[in-house]
Amino acid sequence: MLTRADLAKYPFLAEASDYVRELGFSIDEIAAPEFGPVLDRAEKRLEEALSKGQVSNDSISESTEILSFPVSNLILGLVGEERARRRFALAEAKRAYELLRQETPEKIEHIASKTFGWKLKRLDVRLVRRFYDFAVNLTDYLHNSIHLREPRWSLSNRVMDQGFVYVTREEAARLIEEEVRARILERSSKPPGEIPRQLGSRVERARGLVIKWLGVPAHYELPSVPMPEAMPPCVRHLIDSLNEGKNVQHMGRFTLASFLLNIGTGEEEIVKAFKPATDFSERMTRYQVEHIGGRRGGRTKYTCPMCTTLKTHGVCYKPDELCDTIRNPLSYYKKKSRILTNKGLKREPS
Ligand code: SF4
Repeated sequence: MLTRADLAKYPFLAEASDYVRELGFSIDEIAAPEFGPVLDRAEKRLEEALSKGQVSNDSISESTEILSFPVSNLILGLVGEERARRRFALAEAKRAYELLRQETPEKIEHIASKTFGWKLKRLDVRLVRRFYDFAVNLTDYLHNSIHLREPRWSLSNRVMDQGFVYVTREEAARLIEEEVRARILERSSKPPGEIPRQLGSRVERARGLVIKWLGVPAHYELPSVPMPEAMPPCVRHLIDSLNEGKNVQHMGRFTLASFLLNIGTGEEEIVKAFKPATDFSERMTRYQVEHIGGRRGGRTKYTCPMCTTLKTHGVCYKPDELCDTIRNPLSYYKKKSRILTNKGLKREPS
């Protein structure tokens, strides 16, 4: 079913790992001159993921493409940077999605069932102007759609039949993207004990790339705001999640940006707060921050969403006693600032 060209497109497949194993490469051979293109491509994969958030399909040869993928994973594991691992996993998963959505249903079915163990059925059904290629077992559907916030993924908006959810070919590819992301993340989390001598310089270069594109690890450093101690639990949690390289959904990002803008944080500082995000794009972030601040689009300055809205979207996090007395994170900030000021904890002007 799968050709070598397919393995080059989808190097995360079990068949691709078998192919690498059959070639019988050992880590000692990595330094050999003929291995140079593989190391270069592995490094390029990492740089593309870190800089653009998506890995290209510019392959030199199929075997270089297949072999470079585990080498990228190995280097990342040795670098040991959670933010970089997450960004790489997402970038490779996006690449897989772009390729998968153009595949035949047979190939998508093969990858979903053989690699990820999904139970799915082939369909050929047109309903309400949509063409469904597959019915995916409910468990597999929920497992992969749980982080997808668009309304179309909600079960209430899906066609279901006897425990199977109907999906289009593009949707099947999108759900597989989630599987790919999780699989790659897991792979790069098991580094070998020590850095093989042959990879030392590549690992150092990869560390440099991480700092260049993702910045120095923030380690829970809060953005410079008038009174950081007064931030509500939900906002602190959003900042922590970004710093840990976790995926923060649209409502969370909007909340963080609008909150920070409304308490007087500078736009530069807000853009910096989003830098650790796995899919960070400085241009997009800056545009969105300016939009929320009323400097673009309809020129409306947005305020922070109400707590009820944030509860509905799962952004509210471990509310404390003060949360019982307010209806908006901004009110929390104002109230807490007053309390702290009265206690003499006001921040010294820098
Ligand atoms: S109650 Fe409001 S301020 Fe408190 S954590 Fe939840 S969303 Fe944030």
